[in-house]
Amino acid sequence: MSAAPKDPAAFPSDPVGIAQRLIRFETVNPPGAEAACVHWVRDLLDAAGLDTRLLAKDPARPNLIARLPGRGLVPPLLLHAHVDVVPVAGQDWTRDPFGGELVDGELWGRGAVDMKGHLAMMLAALLRLAAAGTPPAGDVILAVVADEEAGSATGARFLVEEHPELFAGVRHAVGEDGGAELGLGRQVRLHPVVVAEKRAVWVRATLHGTPGHASRAAGPTGAAHKLQRLLTAIDGGGLGTLMTPAVDRMLQELAAALPQPFGGRVAAFRADPDDPAALAGMDETDARYLRSLVQHTVNATVVHGGTATNVLPARIDVELDGRLLPGDFGREDFLRQLRERVGCDMDLEVLVEGDKMPAPRLDGFYERLAGILKAKDPEGVPFPMVTTASTDARLFPRLGIQCYGWLPLLHDLDRSYRGRLHCPDERIAAGALAFGADCFHELLIGHD
Ligand SMILES: [Zn+2]
Repeated sequence: MSAAPKDPAAFPSDPVGIAQRLIRFETVNPPGAEAACVHWVRDLLDAAGLDTRLLAKDPARPNLIARLPGRGLVPPLLLHAHVDVVPVAGQDWTRDPFGGELVDGELWGRGAVDMKGHLAMMLAALLRLAAAGTPPAGDVILAVVADEEAGSATGARFLVEEHPELFAGVRHAVGEDGGAELGLGRQVRLHPVVVAEKRAVWVRATLHGTPGHASRAAGPTGAAHKLQRLLTAIDGGGLGTLMTPAVDRMLQELAAALPQPFGGRVAAFRADPDDPAALAGMDETDARYLRSLVQHTVNATVVHGGTATNVLPARIDVELDGRLLPGDFGREDFLRQLRERVGCDMDLEVLVEGDKMPAPRLDGFYERLAGILKAKDPEGVPFPMVTTASTDARLFPRLGIQCYGWLPLLHDLDRSYRGRLHCPDERIAAGALAFGADCFHELLIGHD
């Protein structure tokens, strides 16, 4: 609720103009400092006549809830987007990452894709709907949140835990896709609709060893020996193959839609994910992604241990980034598998555990998201995707909301947008933003 009415003419209404303004707010997390950006979005939506409300756990990091009233024919639909971005320090940018420059039809800047550009699509669609004066079938709720890139404590988690009433009646939500992209030869334009995310279980493994003088052979009781066993056991990054229903469905649809030889490779991988020949000839990034979908993965990322070159360490700590497949997999089961695989004694402490998401539903709402993409890009192939990343979509299901990651993007076949996420020179084509805004508009008009 702003102090004075704003003049709509003072704000852009097109997705490129909106994204440009959003990028120019430096909202690098940490520290986030999302307030100025969120206030600007609030003013933009106030000027368009929407109901807005700020809610903050930390006043420097507010969240915005905006509501466009509908006709009450269908339940409210939630759109959620974060305005914080990952740092640019140490990255070699060709242009100012906070300049929002439009160069040769591309909008440059941190957040152009993840996810200020995405938010701009949502905002442009909402503004168009509000300006038309015809209410949508159901209320549209937009949550613009802080802190997605660093745990969501002041953002979506705060809203879900402290203000669940804001989301009363919502059954479906649309948010970011967590970098979901699959090249697969770039023969057709693939439109992922994320229906499930893997969840993080981060663990510290502590390996104890017999300390002593390092001038003598250490033997199997040494902590370094155990470290070697641990790293060997998880070399390759996974804990064994497991085909879940969501991944099976994804591979089935891809195999049917993709031209050869890609369709055949995906079909072979689906038939036998353990057959190394199935992924032969496939792009290494795609192959690693597909392998990550049929197993809980574990990567060693931080190692601490030892005090001096000539002293056998009594203890080595290894931090492990574990990612569990979507479904009913508990952390105890995961830790047991890890222990069995490594086969030597170690203490395991869970540092972070992501929320378990419900089984994906490929119901009428999914069909609608896929159908809009198909209608707007008849050559493109929408498909249900499982992503290895986790987003704020992990937090809303506890309110009974089914979440989908949907970034409608008309990207060039020969270019990857994933390669730009969290990387220098992040940018997005102006045409892709316009396509996305059109898709969101279509969704909002008649959402169900
Ligand atoms: Zn993001």
